[in-house]
Amino acid sequence: SKEPLYCIGCGAEIQDTDPDSVGYTPTSAIKKGIDSGKLYCQRCFKLRHYNQIEPSRVSNDEFLKLLSKISETNSLVVYVVDVFDVDGSMIPGIQRFVGKNPIILVGNKSDLLPSSFNHNKVKDWLRQMANKNGIRPIDIELVSAKTNQSVDDLLKAISKHQKGRNVYVVGVTNVGKSTLINQIIQQSTGEKQVITTSKFPGTTLDLIKIPLEDGKELIDTPGVIHEGQMAHYLGSKDLKYVSPQKRIKPKTYQLDPGQTLFLGAIGRFDFISGERHGFTVYADNNLMIHRTKLENADEFFDKHAGELLTPPTEKDNVVELQRHEFKVTDRSDLVIEGLGWITVPKGSTVAGYAPKGVSVLIRKAMF
Ligand code: GDP
Repeated sequence: SKEPLYCIGCGAEIQDTDPDSVGYTPTSAIKKGIDSGKLYCQRCFKLRHYNQIEPSRVSNDEFLKLLSKISETNSLVVYVVDVFDVDGSMIPGIQRFVGKNPIILVGNKSDLLPSSFNHNKVKDWLRQMANKNGIRPIDIELVSAKTNQSVDDLLKAISKHQKGRNVYVVGVTNVGKSTLINQIIQQSTGEKQVITTSKFPGTTLDLIKIPLEDGKELIDTPGVIHEGQMAHYLGSKDLKYVSPQKRIKPKTYQLDPGQTLFLGAIGRFDFISGERHGFTVYADNNLMIHRTKLENADEFFDKHAGELLTPPTEKDNVVELQRHEFKVTDRSDLVIEGLGWITVPKGSTVAGYAPKGVSVLIRKAMF
């Protein structure tokens, strides 16, 4: 068998088979790297040449092993979640993994939130979500890595709380952690050379470290792919519905009990009992929403999923939806993880549907 090759930047074993895993390097770049005596993986290459990091992904086991190492350090943790998919981006057991280290919770993708959302209220709400998740963040920031909104406030919060410690940035994949770190590199390192180094002791994981002014480092940890994501049920053409690019325009429907809303053919909402009320849907602006009678809804789905009801845009990709019923005592959001949420007035009984494996849940209303 061939001798393994290693990246001289981060020490990862070089591989040319899986672009989403650590050490990935295109075959042609491996040859060039060997010839020049400077073999970098693609991630380190981009970081060196363009001051740009790429997301790196690992298995669940490695991710948990790495996270639990953070509790042995004295550091500041920056925990990034996606405000469009807060429930899907929370890391179960995070408190145990980070130990006594303080956490700054970052709600990223604030540019997607409707303009009516008051950012201070969203932060209060994020704090409550965090508390339910078992953590008490010392600070909460709402940012957009894409538009750079409030990234400077986050940097200020990091300097305020850093107190001479290293900074670990954690988050599941797709929350925008790489985009955020790239913004930080741009804003804070300037012309300083960005270096990449070494493994976390006791793991096979390779970490990207970005020097901070006081000789400490900002350390990017790999993300783990969250299982049961809606994205798994969508073809590449339909993925846009679960990663909105534009600010969400909420859509309100006046519903009577016994009415159903289809969210394409990947989500469904039944209003079973309660007072006639406005129900607001927060989802990608292009997702087709169709109102029908609850009593005809099953038949309607069988007939029209993949045709009138899209996504999926092909009938072959239609999957059966699983039903989850809730009786709601306070004003809440019914969340179809990854797809969006629907506000539910207090005193209603509703049901949410999603492909098997995708979580459907009730949470305190975000707004
Ligand atoms: P990572 O897996 O957490 O490192 O996430 P990436 O940085 O690769 O981003 C995942 C996706 O989210 C990409 O499509 C980004 O363009 C998008 N994204 C990242 N940050 C933002 C943001 O602030 N707003 C919006 N709307 N999209 C973002």
